[in-house]
Amino acid sequence: MTDKIQMRTPLVEIDGDEMTRIMWSMVKEKLLLPYVDLKTEYYDLALEHRDETDDQITIEAAEAIKKYGVGVKCATITPNAARVKEYNLKQQWKSPNGTIRAILDGTIFRKPIMVRNIKPAVSNWKKPIILGRHAYGDVYKNVEHRISGPGRAEMVFTPENGEEVKHTIHDFNGSGIIQSIHNLDASISSFAEACFAYALDQRVDLWFSVKDTISKTYDNNFREIFEQIYEEKYKGKFEEAGITYFYTLIDDAVARIIRSEGGMLWALKNYDGDVMSDMLASVFGSLAMMTSVLVSPHGYFEYESAHGTVQKHYQRYLKGEPTSTNPVALIFAWNGALRKRGELDGTPELVTFADKLEAAVIKTIEEGVMTGDLAKLAEPPAKQVVYTEEFIDEVTRRLEEVL
Ligand code: NAP
Ligand code: MG
Repeated sequence: MTDKIQMRTPLVEIDGDEMTRIMWSMVKEKLLLPYVDLKTEYYDLALEHRDETDDQITIEAAEAIKKYGVGVKCATITPNAARVKEYNLKQQWKSPNGTIRAILDGTIFRKPIMVRNIKPAVSNWKKPIILGRHAYGDVYKNVEHRISGPGRAEMVFTPENGEEVKHTIHDFNGSGIIQSIHNLDASISSFAEACFAYALDQRVDLWFSVKDTISKTYDNNFREIFEQIYEEKYKGKFEEAGITYFYTLIDDAVARIIRSEGGMLWALKNYDGDVMSDMLASVFGSLAMMTSVLVSPHGYFEYESAHGTVQKHYQRYLKGEPTSTNPVALIFAWNGALRKRGELDGTPELVTFADKLEAAVIKTIEEGVMTGDLAKLAEPPAKQVVYTEEFIDEVTRRLEEVL
């Protein structure tokens, strides 16, 4: 073993809750600290600490990412009524991910981690499909109304200066329902920017799909903004990188994706992204084999795991039982952040270390050593089903061989 790898700029380290917090410190202690002179600025988003600081710590963490550019985040509890009671909270604090996303103005990209012995349920998918989901508006900020009986439903816009605009939605003869949704050009533009930038970063084609043949104003607006940004800012860069921007109708895209071999970034509106990301996660196997990165159009990156705090396993851990919780998504979150830090700082040793650690994780699983969640899916069957700590030790052993 040679000297530890040096870092120039600190990473913003955002700690979290329950089982992922336990795995977080294991990963650091066994896989990172022995090899990297880890520089981090630490923010503790454990629910108790968010409560103590009236959630200011979450805002500070997001501001730190703006300062340093790259963060890595552990999973955190989004409190519901039961958590308010369990932790005796001052109030039901908002989702930290939502708060951070709002401050960084980001888009989340999810990418499956593929290994040879976990086969996607769609057999022709050979490469990961990355999904980029718009995270503002549409049905998630809707206004709905139940129509009780006959009458006219109208949509009215009252400009600050100017004439009222009115559209008839429907003349109801009987009972029914109506819904209003909206979106903002600024939000759609920053979504588009993030998608083009991430496709370039990953050197993959970008697919975008809406239903503009039916929704000639609303969905068409998404399509036009994407096209305009592509023409003005990204066409040249895409051609240089040998990647393409491809627009097609959402139903056509679904059919093509299923028949494809994967390997693209698929950008989707909020609802489409919600539905399709769950489909992708289940086709590729497990949430614990899914990376997630928040990319802001201003050039900030926050890496995390796609899964939550794995509360059920934590309850077993608290009883003193060892658990076979899968740390792969957390390890990859650290890897993603270290690699990005290395790229931005011009420290190739850090990039190489992240590559080697990633390869060691894949090798461990492909040699048949895995946690229980993967053992259920593996083909050929797992040789050794291990607890979390044993898995990390097996990764360490393989990492040491190549350092
Ligand atoms: P979860 O933590 O994702 O876990 C749900 C189930 O998925 C687990 O019980 C486990 O199944 C399996 N699983 C997830 N990650 C796994 C891993 N790494 N290894 C092995 N199995 C894994 O979701 P949840 O239990 O619904 O949520 C718990 C807490 O997480 C909630 O308070 C929620 O607010 C929070 N959350 C945070 C984030 C985030 O910060 N990014 C995201 C989602 C949820 P088995 O029990 O069958 O083994
Ligand atoms: Mg969903």
